Amino acid sequence: MSDWSQEPRADSYDAVVIGSGFGGVSAAALLARAGLSVLLCERAENVGGYGHTIERGGYIFDPAVRVTHAAGPGGLYPAVLEHIGTSDRCRLVPVPRIYDVGLPDGRLLRVPAGFQELIDAYSGMFPESAEGFESFFRMCLLMHEQGHAMPMMLGLHNLDEAAATYPEYFAHQRRTLDEVAREHIPDDQARSAACALWPYQGAVPSQVGFIAVAQVLMNAVEGSYYSMGGFQTLIDAVIAGLEAYGGDVVTRNGAKRILVVDGKATGVVLESGHEVRAPLVVSNADARQTFLELVGADLLPANFLRRLERMTPSHSAFVAFVGTDLDLGALDIAHEVFIPTEWDHEVDAANIAEGRPAGTWIGVTTLVDPSLAPEGEHAITVSAIAAYDIDRPWEAHRQTYCELLLERAERVIPDLRNNIKFLETATPETLERFTGNTGGAIYGWEQSPLQSGTRRLPHVTPIEGLLLSGHWTLPGSGSTRSFASGVHTAGIALRMLGAGPPLPPAAASAANLPALD
Ligand SMILES: Cc1cc2nc3c(=O)[nH]c(=O)nc-3n(C[C@H](O)[C@H](O)[C@H](O)COP(=O)(O)OP(=O)(O)OC[C@H]3O[C@@H](n4cnc5c(N)ncnc54)[C@H](O)[C@@H]3O)c2cc1C
Repeated sequence: MSDWSQEPRADSYDAVVIGSGFGGVSAAALLARAGLSVLLCERAENVGGYGHTIERGGYIFDPAVRVTHAAGPGGLYPAVLEHIGTSDRCRLVPVPRIYDVGLPDGRLLRVPAGFQELIDAYSGMFPESAEGFESFFRMCLLMHEQGHAMPMMLGLHNLDEAAATYPEYFAHQRRTLDEVAREHIPDDQARSAACALWPYQGAVPSQVGFIAVAQVLMNAVEGSYYSMGGFQTLIDAVIAGLEAYGGDVVTRNGAKRILVVDGKATGVVLESGHEVRAPLVVSNADARQTFLELVGADLLPANFLRRLERMTPSHSAFVAFVGTDLDLGALDIAHEVFIPTEWDHEVDAANIAEGRPAGTWIGVTTLVDPSLAPEGEHAITVSAIAAYDIDRPWEAHRQTYCELLLERAERVIPDLRNNIKFLETATPETLERFTGNTGGAIYGWEQSPLQSGTRRLPHVTPIEGLLLSGHWTLPGSGSTRSFASGVHTAGIALRMLGAGPPLPPAAASAANLPALD
């Protein structure tokens, strides 16, 4: 049963935000904090999108987000939460290791937070590649630093200057993870270990953009965080700020249409038929649905429609939710563990297409927060990158896939299948049903070089007053980037209205938010 109203209290607002994912809630709360009247409308029963936490059989699981970044002192989350007055509503705690890799030969590579620690961990396992790791990870760091320093939106007015100031970033924009890793780390097994985090960006190393992976890795190196009680507590804290500043939230009543008059957004029609007027509409929903179903292709320029048509959504995922009474603390594994299928990650392109587990990773959130499971037990999620369309119904394939996935997990959690106390699974169809992302896309557009960084869809759309926020737009996918996207969107909207910035300038600069242009 939902805690939220289904109908808004008013018929007109300064802004309507469609969708309550990380990118929706941050935009909504900051707009309300700046003094706008805001309605957040959500089609699902609960708020949070992929940040929603579920309770099953006495266990609490995060179906998607199990780690976030930029949550330490001065980071983006504390800056926003303090500004909206709800930093006491959730507790973001650092996790000691950013991830482990259960290597195909059975060894466990343990990767602690910290840049030198990262290099040391890899070099300790593959000493002959120490120099390669050093130069590869330094290039990742440079991408991270330059990506944050340069303006977020590039156009004719600033492109040449940005390219001259950040040459390495521009030189790597079209390159894949595999290309850059090969240049620095010739040894196949050492390079495979360095690329093992590709599932965090959802495509195998020859397809995923180097910069996208480099930035996530360097975010993690600065510190990975878990939201105690599950990521719902973080989403709820942001929404509490929205409500404290007078914002309204409705659930089970999504946007059916975005109203457009003379090329300008004028409000939304909710699924209930309620028409809500607003000169500003922010969509956190699937980008293609936003334009093709909520706005309508006839109102959009042909070149924009062609671009939308050309863009490729990310893959989806399969998730097994497992309760176990095994003593996982004794295994000394991190709360995120990647389990590559083989040394050669490229075999996973075919595995994804053909419905076999690929890019498997385990999340054991109870290692950070034991309250998520009955005493002495653990709540585990075993996820893998999966295609939505595998040429047969997922329902018929669910059990076989799950068995293969859990077998893979036993590389780092021996005998897991004999010690299961709870088991449920989510297929790509489940993810699509719960979040509205077409095909259960887990990261918005695929993070290929041509769709990453400054090449993602911009926040500003061809419809005046309609802005995007979340993983379909800049700066990219994942909780931190989606959350930052909402901050940027609020900034653009407030600037259009001639209002001040969404965050106090000192907080924005400490949080390393790139300038809007
Ligand atoms: C298995 C898995 C593991 C992941 N692990 C991590 C991780 O550990 N760390 C990390 O940072 N990221 C992770 N991600 C990625 C991350 O979850 C997403 O990139 C991010 O949460 C997307 O946020 P968003 O703001 O774009 O909105 P979404 O979460 O996509 O939410 C969009 C919201 O809009 C709503 N909506 C859609 N249409 C409408 C409409 N018409 N009207 C009203 N509402 C609508 C939806 O119901 C939904 O609530 C993972 C994803 C998956 C699936």
